[in-house]
Amino acid sequence: MKKYVIYKIFIIFIYICVIMTLFFWNQSPKIILNGEREITVLLNEPYQELGAKVKTVGQKQHIKIEGTVDTQKVGDYKIRYFLTDKGKTIETTRTVKVRETEKPTIILSGNMRVNMCPNQEYQEQGYESYDNYDGKLTDKVIIHKLKDKWIYTVEDSSHNPTAIAREFIYEDIEAPSITLQGSSVVIVYQNETYQESGYQAYDNCDGDLTNQVKVSGTVNTAVLGTYELKYTVSDTSGHITEETRIVRVTPKPIETGKTIYLTFDDGPSRTITPSVLQILKEENVKATFFIINHDDSLNYLIRQAHEDGHTIAIHSYTHNYRQIYASEEAFFEDLRLMSEKLEEITGVKPTITRFPGGSSNTVSRFNPGIMTRLAKELTNKGYIYFDWNIGSGDAGGVSSAYEVYQNVTSSLHNGTNVVLMHDYESNYYTLNALRDIIHYGKNNGYTFSNITETTPQIKHRIAN
Ligand code: ZN
Repeated sequence: MKKYVIYKIFIIFIYICVIMTLFFWNQSPKIILNGEREITVLLNEPYQELGAKVKTVGQKQHIKIEGTVDTQKVGDYKIRYFLTDKGKTIETTRTVKVRETEKPTIILSGNMRVNMCPNQEYQEQGYESYDNYDGKLTDKVIIHKLKDKWIYTVEDSSHNPTAIAREFIYEDIEAPSITLQGSSVVIVYQNETYQESGYQAYDNCDGDLTNQVKVSGTVNTAVLGTYELKYTVSDTSGHITEETRIVRVTPKPIETGKTIYLTFDDGPSRTITPSVLQILKEENVKATFFIINHDDSLNYLIRQAHEDGHTIAIHSYTHNYRQIYASEEAFFEDLRLMSEKLEEITGVKPTITRFPGGSSNTVSRFNPGIMTRLAKELTNKGYIYFDWNIGSGDAGGVSSAYEVYQNVTSSLHNGTNVVLMHDYESNYYTLNALRDIIHYGKNNGYTFSNITETTPQIKHRIAN
C-alpha cells in the first residue's frame, strides 16, 4: 500500500516535470531593450545605440538591429530589433526623437494692448511667426479669440510651444467731435436774420450724434454786438464736446454810390504827411491812414489826423514780410505792437487793418497758406481788413505826379473806390497829385469818405 503511494507521487512529479518542460520549450524568446523605449536626442548631438538583449531558455540568439537616426534632422526615427526563432520573427522597436529646444517667435503687428469701443470687434492687424529650425510658421499660428484677449499660439516641429496675447481694453476714450458748417465767426448785419449754417457731430464709438447736439445762446440782430452760440454733445461714455460760433451783429454797410476812400500807407513821414493833412483839411476830405511804426516825434501827426476825423488804421509795426508772415504768432505780435502804439496816441483801439503787401500778396508764399489763415483769424479777432481797388502806382513805377493822377482818375467807377497811396518820406508825386485828384472827384460827382466799420469791405482774392 505504502509503496503504491510513493509510486503515485513519483508519477505526478514526472508529469509536472514534463508539463513544465513543454511549457518553457514552447515560450518564444523576448527582446528586452537596453534603455528606454522612447529616447529624445538633441539636434546635432550624437545618438548612442544602447542595444537590446534576449530573454530566453535554451540557446543563445543573436539580435539584429535595423534603422538609422539622422541627428541633424528633427524627426521621429524607428529602430527595429529582431531575431528569428523557429521560423518566427520576434521584434520590437524603439523611437528616437531628434528635437531642438528653441521656441518659435510670434510678432504682432499693431498694439499688444488695444483700446476699443465697447461692442467693437477687433480687426486683426497681422502677425508673423518664425522658428530657428522650421523657418516661417505664420500659417501654423492658431488664434484663440476670447473677449478680453486673443491668444496666438504656435508649435514648431519639435513641439516647442509659444503663446502671446493681445489684450483689449473696452473703453471709449475719445470725445465726440463737432464740425461747424460755415464760418466759426459769422457777421450778420443789423436787423437781418441770422441763419444757422448747421453742424455735424460724430463719435468714434457712437457714430453720428448730430441730432443730439444742443445749441445754446441767442443772437439778437436788433442789437449790435458779439454773440456766442454754444454747441454741446456728449457720447454714451459721458465725454462732452463743445464748440462755439461767434456771431457779430454789425451795422449794415452803407451803399455809397460814387465814393472815393483815399488811403495812405506806410506813414507818417516828416516830409509828406503834414502837407497831406493840410490839403485834406483845406479840401474838407476825410481819408484813412494805415500806419507803420515811426519815431515818437511824429506821433503828433497821428493825433492831428485823428482829431481831423481821419481814420487811423493798422498797417504793420515792422512791415517786414519775412518776419510777420513767418507765423501767425509773429503776425499778431506785430499787429499788437502797432495797435497799442496807436491806441496810446489816439485813445481809440483801431479795428481797421491792411496787410503789408495786401491780402493777395505772394511774397508770403514761403509760408504756404498763411494769408488764408491770417485773413480768417483777423476777422475772428474782430478786425476788418481792407485791400484796394484803385492803384495809384506810387510805390514804384511812376515818374511824375501826373502819372499818379492819371492812374487814379482813369480807374474810378461807380460804387466804392478804395485808392491805394503812400505818404512815406519824399513821396512828392502823390503829394503833388493829391489836390488834383480831389478836384477831379468833386467835379465828377464823387464824395470822399474815410473807411469805417460800415464801409463795404474791399478785399482781394487771397493768393496764398
Ligand atoms: Zn505798406
